[in-house]
Amino acid sequence: MAGDPRLSLYRSRRDFGRTPEPASGKPRRAGGRIFVIQQHDATRLHFDFRLEVDGILKSWAVPKGPSTDPQQRRLAVPTEDHPLDYADFEGVIPAGEYGGGTVIVWDAGSYRNDNRDRHGRFVSMNAALEAGKAIVTLEGKKLRGSYALIRTGGTGVKPQWLLIKRDDDFADARRNPVKTEPRSVLSGRTLAEVARDGAGQ
Ligand code: MN
Repeated sequence: MAGDPRLSLYRSRRDFGRTPEPASGKPRRAGGRIFVIQQHDATRLHFDFRLEVDGILKSWAVPKGPSTDPQQRRLAVPTEDHPLDYADFEGVIPAGEYGGGTVIVWDAGSYRNDNRDRHGRFVSMNAALEAGKAIVTLEGKKLRGSYALIRTGGTGVKPQWLLIKRDDDFADARRNPVKTEPRSVLSGRTLAEVARDGAGQ
């Protein structure tokens, strides 16, 4: 496969002879709108928030993870686009490799693009992200309802975004799923269990 040029940074950072992460970028399925949040115990523990946009996964690293409380604004730092089949990746990236550490699929599901212009016309995810504000409704196992991704400051090489729960029926300041729901939605395992199992499934 020639490879999607949008994934060249993803590929250039990884040695696929050493990491179990997917290299292909082959379509996982056509035309869907999946989201995935992976918990990643790398140099610093963080969550990777990924949205399917035009056949790849747009990605942000969220140090504190997502919140269900609209008062909590969570820093989200853009990272390289990932291939769609990364959404199913769970395992151990060897120490010394890019992103070395354990990954679990912390939440996953589908999302809806809720972006409209001031005339009420549909706005594509790419256009919304380009403009620095994207509204999505998540249908995950842990996270549901409306979330905003808003670009704020750092507009140079290191733009920063905020991931914010919007106020709706799923907003809940008492929940803290990052702490209380640590298991993978794919395998039921914790980070520690996946680390102990190694790369084997
Ligand atoms: Mn990561």
